[in-house]
Amino acid sequence: MTSIQTNITTGNTPPIRLIIHGGAGTISRSRLTPEHEQAYRQVLEQSLVAGHTVLKAGGSSVDAVIAAIVVMEDSPLFNAGKGAVFSHEGRNELDASIMEGATRMAGAVAAVTTIRNPILAAHAVMTKSSHVMLIGQGAETFATEQGLEIVDPSYFHTEFRWNQLQKAIAKNRVLLDHDSNSDTQLPSIDEKRGTVGAVALDRYGNLAAGTSTGGLTNKRYGRVGDSPIIGAGTYADNRSVAVSATGTGEMFIRAAAAFNTAAQVRLLHTPIAEAADNTLAEIAAIGGDGGLIVLDAKGNYTMRFNTEGMYRGMIGSDGIAQVSIFREVETPGSDPSAAMP
Ligand code: ASP
Repeated sequence: MTSIQTNITTGNTPPIRLIIHGGAGTISRSRLTPEHEQAYRQVLEQSLVAGHTVLKAGGSSVDAVIAAIVVMEDSPLFNAGKGAVFSHEGRNELDASIMEGATRMAGAVAAVTTIRNPILAAHAVMTKSSHVMLIGQGAETFATEQGLEIVDPSYFHTEFRWNQLQKAIAKNRVLLDHDSNSDTQLPSIDEKRGTVGAVALDRYGNLAAGTSTGGLTNKRYGRVGDSPIIGAGTYADNRSVAVSATGTGEMFIRAAAAFNTAAQVRLLHTPIAEAADNTLAEIAAIGGDGGLIVLDAKGNYTMRFNTEGMYRGMIGSDGIAQVSIFREVETPGSDPSAAMP
């Protein structure tokens, strides 16, 4: 498999860069109406611009990651924040994590039901507590104390996610978003995942990564996936890379996906696209699939996935937002290593 990396180390200005994903899954042109495609592209672009605005103004990679993720959490299109999927009990239980590459400080929340923007809560855990992960009610109490916006759980209710749950219950299945694709009766908007993530490089050479999700439709018993697990769904280390993952969470945890990728780069000096592919191959070998976005401290990046598509985008120093959804490279030169063969 070929893997070209984008290198933007030439020039005098320190590079800034932001890469985002909005989930990987069975996403193809035939399944996405032009209206839905347009809607997704628009939010992805808004997310890139929000993060880039922070970076351009001299803000930190951590703040850029937050700005980018908040846009996607506030959109009902993605399985994070407002558009989160339902658990078996009909609740929206949200997970999120963030990590700073300079200090390797990290924060995460899991199974929260009232925090409007879980990524902000993860950040508060990282910066305002001596812990890395808070869950459930305790996390919500902490978020309240930190002055974060608390909403009624009904804020997260969306009709199509509710219908998705009813169908999953009827079939007695736990669904990743893209699994619902097998039901051709579903509108195309149901036919993909929507976990969101971002990795950023600021002008000081610091990396950050963050991920936010509603997890799996029809999940039970307090199930938590990879997204809030540092080293599985999220990892950032200035010595190697920042990584955010999306996919079959259980397998990403078992493969320690984000750390695995970073460790290959740091210890084995594996090129980033190859490291991501190695990790995805390990995941595939145990029955999982999904994608990874990876960015190093020089601004080299890759967006890899072994599913049909992945919502994704990149913005660099020139401020031009580039968004892709499907497997093929859509803008020549924009997405140098988009997909595994
Ligand atoms: N990784 C997420 C989880 O398992 C789901 C996804 O990325 O689609 O919770």
